[in-house]
Amino acid sequence: MKCVICRHGTTREGTTTVTFERDGMTLVVKEVPARICTNCGEDYVDEQVARDIMALAGRMAKSGAQVDVRRYVPGSAVPC
Ligand SMILES: [Zn+2]
Repeated sequence: MKCVICRHGTTREGTTTVTFERDGMTLVVKEVPARICTNCGEDYVDEQVARDIMALAGRMAKSGAQVDVRRYVPGSAVPC
């Protein structure tokens, strides 16, 4: 796939770190599978993966945590 940001690079499979902020809380998810542009470094996260992260953020909000750093687990509406 061609990068839509720089229009020069192509993307390759890799992992990235996603930072999600909402209502004063910060969720950092490491080792998220993504396609990374070899030219500018832009990362493209699949919709399903993004949904997992949103679900994680939702549970985190309920727990009252302000900051959380965790590793991405595929299909993870689970582990704490
Ligand atoms: Zn690019």
